[in-house]
Amino acid sequence: MIEVQNLTKRYGSQYAVRNISFRVEEGEIVGFLGPNGAGKSTTMNILTGYLSATEGVVKVNGHDVLEEPNEAKANIGYLPEQPPLYLDMTVREYLAFMYDLKKCKLDREKHIAEICRLVKIENVYGRLIKNLSKGYRQRVGLAQALIGNPPVLILDEPTVGLDPNQIIEIRDLIKRLGKHHTIILSSHILQEIEAVCDRIIIISQGTLVADDTAANLSAQYSGDRRLLVRVAGPEADVQRLLAGIPGVVRAASFGEKEAGVYEFAIEPAVGADIRRELFTRLASRGWALMGLRSMEMTLEDIFITLTRERLPQTAAVKKGRNEK
Ligand code: ADP
Ligand code: MG
Repeated sequence: MIEVQNLTKRYGSQYAVRNISFRVEEGEIVGFLGPNGAGKSTTMNILTGYLSATEGVVKVNGHDVLEEPNEAKANIGYLPEQPPLYLDMTVREYLAFMYDLKKCKLDREKHIAEICRLVKIENVYGRLIKNLSKGYRQRVGLAQALIGNPPVLILDEPTVGLDPNQIIEIRDLIKRLGKHHTIILSSHILQEIEAVCDRIIIISQGTLVADDTAANLSAQYSGDRRLLVRVAGPEADVQRLLAGIPGVVRAASFGEKEAGVYEFAIEPAVGADIRRELFTRLASRGWALMGLRSMEMTLEDIFITLTRERLPQTAAVKKGRNEK
């Protein structure tokens, strides 16, 4: 449904987006996740034809966004980061205006009424947009994106600035829309993406660093489960004992966590279950096992790892300061 190949956007010598490729199939809800400045809005603006790429190809439902912009755009409903609302119009006037602008062919009254029911803005239909709350404005923005019933919806940070109840409402609405539309939704908040999306694309500093389901990402990055153990015993001796257990690749100390109790991270070899041997050996020395748990990486950990690993500029700045 959407095909992005080697997309690059440069401003002068700065890359906002760098060589990004991905596909979105019909019916998917894909989350575009990345910290502020990662390049989410830039990518979405290019997908929707609002911004031209420096390099790369974008196809929507088979139509090249550059070569057949009208056909490509007709397939997309776009909710930009700043919805293009006319504050001095009523909701009715604005939706009629957008209907004309999009040259929509569907039955005007019926189509707009249907959308209003779907996004629940019937009760503010006659109100001026400037008098609406942020939550209602966002829904009017969504209504605008739905005019013409486009198969693809692109939503840029649709819940930014909303209160928790409004966030839940918009999420539910997006999930409902996902039954009939292919959706790309961006956010800098992991929970947001996790709650709504089938698949997660993580971008950091303009580069795609992950593209998978939440479950696969967790499985891939948690790798072989590391164990976190707490032992009451002399730190260095315990560490030596742990490192000597067959099947242990590494054992690192995290220091004293309770009086006389040290915490260690143990990395077992692939497939090795070291728990019995761990217990027996500690017991033979009289060192009590005070805690044992597996250190599975949460999606949050993965996100932080993937988006933090690439900060050479920040490191350079810090170094410069220290040298003075
Ligand atoms: P996100 O939406 O993920 O927060 P953006 O796509 O808005 O990120 O921005 C990506 C990068 O491109 C940022 O570093 C931003 O400063 C830069 N950028 C965006 N628009 C422009 C512009 N018009 N001129 C120069 N740099 C820009
Ligand atoms: Mg943005």
